[in-house]
Amino acid sequence: MTFKKSLISLTCLLATTATWAQDKTLNIYSARHYPTDEVMYSDFTKATGIKINRVDADDAGILARLKAEGAASPADVILLVDAARLWRAEVDGLFLPIKSAKLEEVIPANLRAKPADNGGTAWFGLSTRARVVVFDKLKYTKADFDSYEKLASPQFKGQLCIRSGSHPYNLSLFGAMTEHLGPQKTEAWLKGLVDNMASSPKGGDTDQIKAVASGECGMAVTNTYYLARMMRSSNPADKAVTDKIGVVFPNQSSWGTHVNVAGGAVARHAKNTANAVLFLEYLTSPAAQNHFANGNNEWPVTKGVSFDNPALKAMTGGSFKSELIPISAVGMNQIKVQQMLDRVGFK
Ligand code: FE
Repeated sequence: MTFKKSLISLTCLLATTATWAQDKTLNIYSARHYPTDEVMYSDFTKATGIKINRVDADDAGILARLKAEGAASPADVILLVDAARLWRAEVDGLFLPIKSAKLEEVIPANLRAKPADNGGTAWFGLSTRARVVVFDKLKYTKADFDSYEKLASPQFKGQLCIRSGSHPYNLSLFGAMTEHLGPQKTEAWLKGLVDNMASSPKGGDTDQIKAVASGECGMAVTNTYYLARMMRSSNPADKAVTDKIGVVFPNQSSWGTHVNVAGGAVARHAKNTANAVLFLEYLTSPAAQNHFANGNNEWPVTKGVSFDNPALKAMTGGSFKSELIPISAVGMNQIKVQQMLDRVGFK
């Protein structure tokens, strides 16, 4: 977050604190860094009359802020964009586990928190994104990267571009690999990734995609929504990039491609709890789920939602097999994964 944006957020917070206790308001702390979401918030307000006050920050910033504010926090709803962060916040007691028959009915059990002691659920996945491999079409074919395991193959020395191992998206992928392969094989695999790196990790997922197109590396790891965003861009430079690369959804013939969630929760000290639950339920409505797909190129979590996103369709050919491990397990493996990364020198 830029300084200017922080200042605006802070000013908004101070200006609105006085009104935040009223019934028809909902206070959201959001890490969803996607401008296309605006219409979703305004639709909710139009439908319910509930005014939304929003503070935007990244996952880590939101968690730190909630801890600093404690019981005085005005936050009602928390939106985060990674399963490991959702799990961390749950463990740190920042969420209020809730019971909602609707959320339990429409969101698959593996894409939400395990039931808490009171039978409530601390957080819910609201959309999914797959972590896939992109490659240089001139050098390789899909078959070269049809499993995550192959990224560590010695034949690809100096070919891999990937963002920092400690970024939540990678921690979650590696946490999932730990579930599938066990810690020993996962650590050997991570060592193989380090050995294959074209250079030390830098930049975000979009930078890795561009690095493949520029020839800096032969293969890279990215979340699907960054790729879909480029595929749908009207900028000729983006088109030039996507023309050069192929995409693979790994492990289709074994456990399925790793999917992460963006999700939501009610804040531990929420004052507008009923509105918060209503908002989370609204995010599972066909209109909102369709928005996740068409607005931000994510997949709906609810079954049977029809959407028409040409980029998602083009990259999958219609559908793909995603892994079915409980997404909360990737959070539990986080510390173990970070220790492995330190041992193998994955920055
Ligand atoms: Fe992102």
